[in-house]
Amino acid sequence: MPEGDTVWHTAATLRERLAGRTLTRCDIRVPRFAAVDLTGQVVDEVLSRGKHLFIRIGGVSIHSHMQMDGSWRVADRPVRVDHRARIILEARDIRAVGVDLAVLELLDRDNDGAVVAHLGPDLLGAEWDAAVAAANLAADPQRPIAEALLDQRVLAGIGNVYCNELCFVSGHLPTAPVSAIADPQRLVARAREMLWLNRFRRNRCTTGDTRAGRRLWVYGRVGEPCWRCGTRVEYLSARDTAERVQFWCPACQR
Ligand SMILES: [Zn+2]
Repeated sequence: MPEGDTVWHTAATLRERLAGRTLTRCDIRVPRFAAVDLTGQVVDEVLSRGKHLFIRIGGVSIHSHMQMDGSWRVADRPVRVDHRARIILEARDIRAVGVDLAVLELLDRDNDGAVVAHLGPDLLGAEWDAAVAAANLAADPQRPIAEALLDQRVLAGIGNVYCNELCFVSGHLPTAPVSAIADPQRLVARAREMLWLNRFRRNRCTTGDTRAGRRLWVYGRVGEPCWRCGTRVEYLSARDTAERVQFWCPACQR
């Protein structure tokens, strides 16, 4: 599931491979922009803001968002392209394919910040501001913690995996009100640390133990013993949507 760390890493990879290079192919497979061809133009920069990704080329900014299933595949060899491809960018031997992107649009480069102006502090951004993020988090005391952590206007970058893990490490139920958090600044600092440590990892790890099967505290671990107390991890609520499924340790989280 793409969260802020995935998008940061994707931007870093695209930047490393494409920035400063001239596009030799530009194939946009979204009806509204299908006629746009940026071939011959130079890729200036690639950046992420929360879970949004921007590729700036001349006066244009290609804005994309992966949501649940999207990805960018980058390689210096042919990448498989099928009907799920939304955009193909090539610079000689480098090929980048945006697959199943939930959002793909071309913006005026000078105004591309407007689509992310609503975001709270970016957990992996250079201008990360823990005090603002903590204040945003605490702003609505009755709001469930998980809902606040997932709200990108509060702080940007957390998806459902980190949301579940942060609730565990802070000892709270995802459904507990924000007012239960004794130290919001400590919680947002942990959030930043978690994403920061994972920004280059292929397999996300929040426990500090990078062995297979040991990397996460509760996410995806229903029926398995809590690493801290041995109690079996459970689903908190009916498992209605994969996007918002909640896991918890009934002993560690209260
Ligand atoms: Zn436990």
